[in-house]
Amino acid sequence: MNLVFTNRFVHDLPGDPDLTNERRQVSGACYSFVAPTPVSSPQLLGFSPEAAALLDLTEEDCRSEAFLQVFSGNTVLPGMQPFAMRYGGHQFGSWAGQLGDGRAINLGEVINRQGQRWTLQLKGAGPTPYSRSADGLAVLRSSLREFLCSEAMYHLGIPTTRALSLIATGEQVLRDMFYDGHPRLEPGAIVCRLAPSFVRFGNFEIHTAHGETSLLQKLLDHTLAAGFPELSEKQERDRYLRWFGDVCRRTAELMVHWMRVGFVHGVMNTDNMSVLGLTIDYGPYGWLEAYDPLWTPNTTDAQGRRYCYGNQPRIALWNLVQLANAIYPLIGSAEALQETLGEYQRTFQTTWQQTLAAKFGLPSAKEEDFRLMERMLDLMRLHEIDMTIFFRRLAGVTGDDDDNQRFCSLFADALYHSIPASEQTALDDWLGAYRRRLNSYRLAPLQRRHQMNRTNPKYVFRNYLAQLAIEQVEQGNTALLTELLDVLRHPYDDQPDRSHLAARRPEWARNRAGCSMLSCSS
Ligand code: AMP
Ligand code: MG
Ligand code: MG
Repeated sequence: MNLVFTNRFVHDLPGDPDLTNERRQVSGACYSFVAPTPVSSPQLLGFSPEAAALLDLTEEDCRSEAFLQVFSGNTVLPGMQPFAMRYGGHQFGSWAGQLGDGRAINLGEVINRQGQRWTLQLKGAGPTPYSRSADGLAVLRSSLREFLCSEAMYHLGIPTTRALSLIATGEQVLRDMFYDGHPRLEPGAIVCRLAPSFVRFGNFEIHTAHGETSLLQKLLDHTLAAGFPELSEKQERDRYLRWFGDVCRRTAELMVHWMRVGFVHGVMNTDNMSVLGLTIDYGPYGWLEAYDPLWTPNTTDAQGRRYCYGNQPRIALWNLVQLANAIYPLIGSAEALQETLGEYQRTFQTTWQQTLAAKFGLPSAKEEDFRLMERMLDLMRLHEIDMTIFFRRLAGVTGDDDDNQRFCSLFADALYHSIPASEQTALDDWLGAYRRRLNSYRLAPLQRRHQMNRTNPKYVFRNYLAQLAIEQVEQGNTALLTELLDVLRHPYDDQPDRSHLAARRPEWARNRAGCSMLSCSS
């Protein structure tokens, strides 16, 4: 295994001179040096060959002893300068002060053969100065969820941090689990994740909150040089503003992706928002089963539903406002920032309308088409219809179908309840109106179906599948973990022999902890 490390973040930015690993408030620095805590008996549970390829690592490399020791945090390679980032954030709408990498340790950057830079980070590798009252560890349950979901998102074509490996540490970790509220010991694990940069909105917020304007500027200059070379080279006067516009557009595109596939992040605090527009921090996330804008998997948010599915685009904007406030000292014009924020709304509006039309297989964005689409979303919510299955079935509907085919028979496998006859009329009427739209557009059915199936995945990482995989791995069986990693590689393909993994949530999982309810405890 040949990995050469560099470290631009450390090179460009000032670190905390205190080298001890005591929990503390840090000031005047962007990070603190801290080494991973060694673990007793690491065991490789899974790795992503596609993520490994980003580092020019072969599958053989991933199965090597050296790999296991490095990505469990037991070996620090030459050139690594492990560190934890300092950041703050707004949690559930309130300023929370210093947060920082409480259990993530950056190992450094690897430049691959194509010249791309990837920062490597271990999650769950022990405490850092930012761990506050927590232990710096992660349990298998949440690590498996992060590992599989990161790679599933990537294969769905959604910007995300990547996951290289899932390693059990052999240690036991104490958690107050959601099952019964009592603490229990759980197996510990470490995920190695990769991203071009892990900088979050909160990295900027912390400097502004502490009046550290020159650090704020250094961090932004570093961010431009590292990720936005076209803006940094020219040294243009409005480059900071243009960068902000870019973050707004990337964030809008990310929200459209989440809404398209029914992903609910669950904790959209500003410390969990990437300036590269990546999905970051897989905690109590979930996937919509029955379509429901108010649904959130996060039990901590069950009352306010701040981070429910339907609120995500609004919250992203709220978070961008916090980023705007954070960089205000470098811009000096609230009007200019306000104007640039408009980029978010414009991008979201246009892209979402196109995406919704593509989901329904309609070519245009006519007013009446949107009414038709919104009517179905309403009916899906009312009748608990599985979002993912619905859109795959819809791709098979054609304009010339025999009008006697009723909604409830065509979409039977998307229904969580049988729908009383008196309520079926509205659904049949909708189907009739939809067929008439298709007829009027004269779309080639095969082409339309193909295009819809590129927009609407067949396989998403359903919450109950995650839970089944966790229960198996805790019993020492990695079969489902491996199968899911494999099937989620081609989420838009039919893979007929895998169809059971695309089925609606079974009844036993309806109210089962881990399947539809998750807490932040991880
Ligand atoms: P999150 O809700 O996952 O975004 O985490 C919020 C903050 O808590 C971040 O600063 C995390 O680094 C920190 N954190 C979460 N879990 C742990 C843990 N087990 N040990 C130390 N810090 C943690
Ligand atoms: Mg976080
Ligand atoms: Mg987290």
